[in-house]
Amino acid sequence: MDPVWLLLLLPVAAAGGWLMAVYDRRSVKNLQELPDAYFKGLSFLLNEEPDKALKVFLEVVEVDKETVEMHMALGNLFRRRGEVERATLIHQNLVARSDLDGGLRCLALFELAQDYFKAGLYDRAENLFLELRQSDDYRNQANKFLLQIYDQEKEWKKAISVAEGITGTDGDEYARTIAHFYCELAELEISAGNNTAAEAYLESAFRKDAKCIRAVIQSGRLASMRGNHTNAIAIWRGLEFWAPAALGEVVGHISNSYLELNDRRSLKKFLQSSIEINPDPRIIGMLVELTGREKGGVEGDRLLLSLVQKYPSLENLYQLVNSKTKTSSVEEKDNDYTLLAGLLSGLVESGRQYNCRQCGFQSNALHWQCPGCKGWGTVQRQPGTRLSVSAN
Ligand SMILES: [Zn+2]
Repeated sequence: MDPVWLLLLLPVAAAGGWLMAVYDRRSVKNLQELPDAYFKGLSFLLNEEPDKALKVFLEVVEVDKETVEMHMALGNLFRRRGEVERATLIHQNLVARSDLDGGLRCLALFELAQDYFKAGLYDRAENLFLELRQSDDYRNQANKFLLQIYDQEKEWKKAISVAEGITGTDGDEYARTIAHFYCELAELEISAGNNTAAEAYLESAFRKDAKCIRAVIQSGRLASMRGNHTNAIAIWRGLEFWAPAALGEVVGHISNSYLELNDRRSLKKFLQSSIEINPDPRIIGMLVELTGREKGGVEGDRLLLSLVQKYPSLENLYQLVNSKTKTSSVEEKDNDYTLLAGLLSGLVESGRQYNCRQCGFQSNALHWQCPGCKGWGTVQRQPGTRLSVSAN
């Protein structure tokens, strides 16, 4: 058997992985033609002495196209294993060489930029990725890394600029993300009291994603802050037609605006029709509360009971039992309903109401950016835990 294959069979993952990577590149037709230094370095790798191996590789004087690729493979192997400092040394050594042609230098720069990125040295990574944007071959990939850096650093304008630069089929996927960046900018302007600037950002958000729920919520907020509650309600209620699942997120806002207009009748009609399309516990809770205020707690409880029968979910059952703890006698409270409410509350809490369609991250709160995969607008509310009710 060829001695190279014997080496490949050695059960040392690091060196084996590197050799596989090198061999896979095919440009190395015969490993035995390599300078002795490579075998010396390989031997150190096999003995799990990476620093000695690194020293040997860095001292190799002659670097041609084939050996550059071996250095790249070794650097990438170190980075994959989390040994970023070693990877950085290899790639820095390559970048510093004056004898590399343009294409290989760009490749080495790209690898070094990824080392810096992985090490969290964003300033250095940013500079290299910006340089790589000048190259047609690396522009898209560099933009994607820059996007991650600016996203992390909350540099929204820069993030928009690089996301706009991502071309091809990939580019379309970023429209929704860019809309969220505009929403972030709008939020900053709202906090600073610059509502006109915020509105302009929200218009940009809608141009990128006409169905951006977050921009709808913010636009309604801006209208209500200006005292234009009729407009605010119209903006939020648009969700009834194209995103009824999101109605629970705005029911509190809509309710407040109707109450500001002193229009309980319309509020009630809105809540009743919304429940038909989305029996979200928050909408049900709002209607029950409104009914209770108008007609008394008993009527409110009666309505809640009928809604729980119609939409039997864990969340709605919890609301029913919880309301009983407030209205029942002291004895009943101590003995039954308080215990039941406590148990159900635990169940409702443990059942996560939101999850990310991209990575499956679960939470009890709506996150515009998924804390798991950092995707924007990927977290959605789940339908409540539906219970089946037996006939008797
Ligand atoms: Zn996710």
